Amino acid sequence: MSDSIDRILEIAADAGRAASQICRAVLAEAPASPDAMAKLGKEPVTVADYGSQAVILRLVQAAFPGHGVISEEGSAHLRESAGDAGAEQIVRLVGQVVGEAVDFDQVCAWIDHEGPAEAEYTWAIDPIDGTKGFLRREQYAVAIGLLRHGKPYAGVMACPNLPVDLALPDGPCGVLFVAAEGRGCTRVALDGGATEPAKVNAEATLAAARVLGSVESAHGDPKMVVAAMERLGIGGGFVRYDSQVKYGVVAQGAAEIYVRPRSKPEYRENIWDHAAGVVVCEQAGGRVTDLDGKELDFSRGKKLTENRGVLATSGGALHDAVVAGIAAIEARA
Ligand code: AMP
Ligand code: MG
Repeated sequence: MSDSIDRILEIAADAGRAASQICRAVLAEAPASPDAMAKLGKEPVTVADYGSQAVILRLVQAAFPGHGVISEEGSAHLRESAGDAGAEQIVRLVGQVVGEAVDFDQVCAWIDHEGPAEAEYTWAIDPIDGTKGFLRREQYAVAIGLLRHGKPYAGVMACPNLPVDLALPDGPCGVLFVAAEGRGCTRVALDGGATEPAKVNAEATLAAARVLGSVESAHGDPKMVVAAMERLGIGGGFVRYDSQVKYGVVAQGAAEIYVRPRSKPEYRENIWDHAAGVVVCEQAGGRVTDLDGKELDFSRGKKLTENRGVLATSGGALHDAVVAGIAAIEARA
């Protein structure tokens, strides 16, 4: 079977849709109130996370057995923590989504698929990015990235709770972004509709730029972001979303800057938290570097060991201005 980009994107998009079905089914079966769901501890996250990873890797390993895979978890934790009810639920939901009877060992085998260690292509997968947002029924993403020779090459991101039209937050939700090197980026409603190109807003001035950051303060440094916006005269507002949805929002031209300062000096970003989003944003015309303006280095295993934070923008002079502005603020600090 060929590694053609068409085939890669077809499989990745199918995987994103299947994983979204698992995530939505888990939420549909969970108690409606966030308090009651929180009392279940990590169980809904566990079932959705592993179920999502299982259906993604089932497709990837069948289509591309020669590709490597780096994904967030292995089945050991699922076996320990699922309990009888969790195991029953994951087997049932995965079976429904793949359309055949499966057993628990088969689900675990899909979750654990890694492929060869040294391969031209390596998938970097976060089956649910933004688990806290998932539990709050806010934003989360199924993030399916593909590296080629250690560089971001293709990215599919399913965002089941992202409004199809951000101006209509109570309207239909669910967006699928599909992007690959040289192919641009498209977006389509997860529940069907016309596929359209996703393009950054390349026109914004620094003064009008809209900024995105994490909901979880512990994942970054929101005080630093707000202070930097004031110092640099960035006036378009600061909106906080969980997960790589932020890359998608920049890609569709609804914000211009996603800044992710290091939460603590020793923190290194996971490649699966960025691989898919980087391709989506860059192929929509954006630019992604670290806070120093350095290209993200995905070739070092699971972590971005060589980078300091992440900065994604609509590109061009705006990107350089933000990098220079952050450097100037830090030099004065
Ligand atoms: P976000 O919602 O953008 O903050 O991204 C969610 C991701 O943040 C999770 O998938 C985690 O891998 C990652 N994360 C967890 N702890 C930290 C931390 N201390 N600093 C930065 N990112 C983190
Ligand atoms: Mg993540």
